[in-house]
Amino acid sequence: MSKLVVISGPSGAGKGTVVKELLNIYKEKNDKVHLSVSATTRLPREGEVDGVNYYFLKEEEFQRKLEENDFLEHNIYGTGKSYGTLKSHVLKYLSSGYDVILEIDINGYKQVTQNYDDALGIFIMPPSLEILEKRLRDRGTETEESIQARLQTAKEEIKNKKIYPHIVINEDGKVIEAAKEIYEIIKND
Ligand code: 5GP
Repeated sequence: MSKLVVISGPSGAGKGTVVKELLNIYKEKNDKVHLSVSATTRLPREGEVDGVNYYFLKEEEFQRKLEENDFLEHNIYGTGKSYGTLKSHVLKYLSSGYDVILEIDINGYKQVTQNYDDALGIFIMPPSLEILEKRLRDRGTETEESIQARLQTAKEEIKNKKIYPHIVINEDGKVIEAAKEIYEIIKND
């Protein structure tokens, strides 16, 4: 049975690197997985590619998709930018036997659980708020305003993490361990 897996966690928790490692584990095991590509109105970071990291949309394009009911869930993040999961993509892969991974925030997770009883929620935690802030700064891609908004949102998300049945800590230098833990959670669910 294919699974709809929601992976959340504060910006800077290292979700991206853990998810990349998780995809490698699926590949090694010849297991079918699809990482959902979200739509967003934020600008691409250096190196991000349209259609690979996100579908980067203009506000009007995002609004149009919203009106056409194309999103499985959507949210305006703490930075004021919109993010959404495209329904048709997710359903296509689930019905073809793929596990589908959504890397979305806590508001998105709440919406998904309303529509899918068996969505599996996993929250990735940074080892500490200090390390989270350091990771955000080391990225070197965010403005001070965006860093502050992300830290504030992170604190709120961490406060609400109990709505996730599984919490995984992404310790510094232990990305592979975190990814293995997540794979086991998915397969034992
Ligand atoms: P970032 O700008 O760092 O790529 O993402 C900011 C936040 O938006 C992260 O917590 C990320 O997981 C979340 N996010 C990314 N795509 C989606 C989406 O499609 N829906 C929702 N609700 N959140 C998303």
